[in-house]
Amino acid sequence: MNPFKSLINAVEYFSDDERCREYFASLRFENGIPQCHHCGNEGAWKIEGGKRYKCKACRKRFSLKTNSIFQDSNLSLKQIAIGIYLLTSSKKGISSRSLAKSIGCGQRAAWLLQTKIREMLIDEAPEFLAEEVTEDGEVVSIPKEIDEAYLLGSDKWRHKDKKRGKGDKPVCFGILNRGGEVYAKIVPDATNKSLTDVIADVVEKGSVIYSDESRAYLNLWQRGYNHQSVKHKSGQYVDGDCHTNGIENFWSHLKRGRKGTYISVSRKHLQRLRLKTAV
Ligand SMILES: [Zn+2]
Repeated sequence: MNPFKSLINAVEYFSDDERCREYFASLRFENGIPQCHHCGNEGAWKIEGGKRYKCKACRKRFSLKTNSIFQDSNLSLKQIAIGIYLLTSSKKGISSRSLAKSIGCGQRAAWLLQTKIREMLIDEAPEFLAEEVTEDGEVVSIPKEIDEAYLLGSDKWRHKDKKRGKGDKPVCFGILNRGGEVYAKIVPDATNKSLTDVIADVVEKGSVIYSDESRAYLNLWQRGYNHQSVKHKSGQYVDGDCHTNGIENFWSHLKRGRKGTYISVSRKHLQRLRLKTAV
């Protein structure tokens, strides 16, 4: 994914606006011929100094971002290109705060970029998702903590221990990369099938997964995960490295609205919820 040997290499390459546009055009258009996103016609005039295109058939305008995951982004192609480089070259992942500093944008814009790129990676290239490299150069996946939480009304969260979810109350399932990011997704219910399907989508087999004693996780071993659990009901919250304090902490931040700017709580948004936590 990264044809560049170093950050300097990538920055030099993308510092030329024209070359940057050509790079994206070569990714987006077959044989580099601009294809209209409105009518599908091949062939368009470059307008606005090459920043946009005008279709030779329907005469509508489009840009390299139209109909892409970056359509709504105000970031420049250069910022996006360097952002992709940073997000895919760092095995340990990078916080939206430091991404924002590196590409010169607000933290929310950086977070959105990160979210979209991570979603794309989950679908297209999960091998680029955060991993950890040991001193011997061995790549090991970061332990995950998993847990569910329930949404109440439009903006209130409750933990599953407080009130059991009933009826159609949305269930949010979270997977924390220890020390980093939470992947969260709304699932139809908290059954074994719904939860393990999400795990199978985003967690590599062989990964260490920590959870509470919920029956929904009973067969993770059979599915190839190194699963360990603590028995909250018997008052056991920590067993060596095994605990779910990180993801619990995340829910409690969420419930207190600390991450309010990110959480406009609708199902649509929650589907794309990936949050950084300081745990
Ligand atoms: Zn057209």
